Amino acid sequence: MAVSTIIDTHCHLDYIQRQEDHPEGAAGTDPAQVLERAKAAGVEFLVNPSVTPARFAEIIALAERFENVYAAVAVHPTDVTDILDNERWLDEIEALLSHPKVVAIGETGLDYYWDTTHADLQKRCFKGLLELGRKHNLPVIVHDRDAHEDVAQMIDEVPGVRGIMHCFSGDAAFARRMIEKNFYISFAGNVTFKKAENLHEAARETPLEWILAETDSPFLSPLPFRGKPNEPARVKHVVEKIAELKGISYQEVAEATTRNARNVFNLL
Ligand SMILES: [Zn+2]
Ligand SMILES: [Zn+2]
Repeated sequence: MAVSTIIDTHCHLDYIQRQEDHPEGAAGTDPAQVLERAKAAGVEFLVNPSVTPARFAEIIALAERFENVYAAVAVHPTDVTDILDNERWLDEIEALLSHPKVVAIGETGLDYYWDTTHADLQKRCFKGLLELGRKHNLPVIVHDRDAHEDVAQMIDEVPGVRGIMHCFSGDAAFARRMIEKNFYISFAGNVTFKKAENLHEAARETPLEWILAETDSPFLSPLPFRGKPNEPARVKHVVEKIAELKGISYQEVAEATTRNARNVFNLL
């Protein structure tokens, strides 16, 4: 039987190819090999979000080099100090939006787990990018760590914006709330963890037409690879877990998440 098509809506290929950034100390990996393995697992395309303007050129180059790699541009909430000396950061991002391989604004959002000292700057950055997403009708890839309330409130302040809750970490009720705001729920490797009961419940209760799958690789490897460097091929374990939780077939989840990803990134 043919391998079902799946999509990795969020992976950091730039980190994967850089030896120095590997969280678990793995060697830098040739992205061509990583993409070969992803292809064998059924991954049709993947989206590489950026975390800082310093990486935009690298991410665009990867998207230009590989046909099935797309890019997103933004500033990660834990990297916001990178824009302190750069008044033109928002213009730089806006200028990249016309690139044919740029399909989203991301990643941006709020992270109160790693950094609360720059909460105001995180908010200013997030607000600017939500407004940019609305202006260009592009999805905004939202990073939300320990910041559910503020994230929801800020999205409410920009009516009409749409996007993705990446590496979803809330419960079923929060997922429902975000869907009402036109945000897809993207599950990552942590949904496979045995004690992630809130996430299991969220995956069970979230309608299939609002679910996406991602790896956030090289971070957050799913079971049975927890603690090891992650890569896009492993998105299949996320899809598998969602199917198991919902009590439906792998193929059904693969088809729905592929359709949803094509929709949200306008890759029809
Ligand atoms: Zn993130
Ligand atoms: Zn990420």
